[in-house]
Amino acid sequence: MPDKSTSSEARPSGASATAEVATPPRKIYPIVKYGDPILEKPTAAVNKFDTNLEQLAEDMFASMYAAQGVGLAAPQIGLNLRMAVVDVTVGKNPEAKIVLINPEITHAEGEVREEEGCLSIPGFRGYVIRPQFVTVKALNAKGEPFEMRGENMLARAFCHEIDHLNGVLFLQHLSMLKRDLIKRKIKKLKKQGEW
Ligand SMILES: [Zn+2]
Repeated sequence: MPDKSTSSEARPSGASATAEVATPPRKIYPIVKYGDPILEKPTAAVNKFDTNLEQLAEDMFASMYAAQGVGLAAPQIGLNLRMAVVDVTVGKNPEAKIVLINPEITHAEGEVREEEGCLSIPGFRGYVIRPQFVTVKALNAKGEPFEMRGENMLARAFCHEIDHLNGVLFLQHLSMLKRDLIKRKIKKLKKQGEW
C-alpha cells in the first residue's frame, strides 16, 4: 500500500486538476429522426457568437460521438441554426474536429459515388454521387472566418452537413425507386412504433 506522500505525488499537477474541473459535463442531445419537419427546413444563419455557442459546438461533438457519427447538423438536435460539426476520425484525432458555422461551398470538383448514411435515418444507406474535392467557407465557433478544402470522405461530410442546413437529406439524392422503398420501410417502422 503506498504511503501518503507517494499517492500525493501521483496526483495530477495543480494546473491539470484545475483544467479538469473547468470542463463542464457535455450534454448529449437525442438525434431527431426522419419525419420531423425541422429536418426539411432551411436553417437560419448564426449571428450571435458567445461562450454558449462554443459550448453548444462541444455538446454537438459529444452527441455525434455518442451516436458514432462523422457529422452532425444543428437541425438533427432540433435547433434551427446554420451550424454543423464534422470529424471524420470520430474523435480519434482532436485536430480533426471542424465546426462549420454559416458554411457555404465555394468550389467543388470531381465526382465520387459512395454509400452514405445519416444519423437521422438510422439503418438505411444509399449510394450518392458527391464531389471528390470541396472548398468550404465558414466561421468557427468564435466567429472567425476560415476556408477549408476537403477530399473524398471529408468532402462528402461537408456536402451532407451543408445539405442538412438547407433542409435537404441524402434521400433526395437517391433514385426515386430507392427513395420510395426507404420511405415505405420507415412508414412501416413508424406504424410498429419502432421509429
Ligand atoms: Zn445526416
